[in-house]
Amino acid sequence: MKPPICEVCDLDFRHELEKNPATGGLVYFSDYQSLDNGMVGHPKGLGWFCAKHLSDAQFLSSLSKRMAMEQLRIKFNNFG
Ligand SMILES: [Zn+2]
Repeated sequence: MKPPICEVCDLDFRHELEKNPATGGLVYFSDYQSLDNGMVGHPKGLGWFCAKHLSDAQFLSSLSKRMAMEQLRIKFNNFG
């Protein structure tokens, strides 16, 4: 699992999240696939988002993560 770093703005909120669970959250996209037992890593179709970007990411969670990220990057003008 990746640490809590926003997929849109790269904000690293792992320390804030310990203090305040509303700092950000995980979004499961339509292409989410859980890891097989014993597998380590970050599951496909799953992303962390800061509080600023979480609601928009959740709104797009019916899309695949790749499609949703395209929309989010256009919306927030972040092509990095
Ligand atoms: Zn963000």
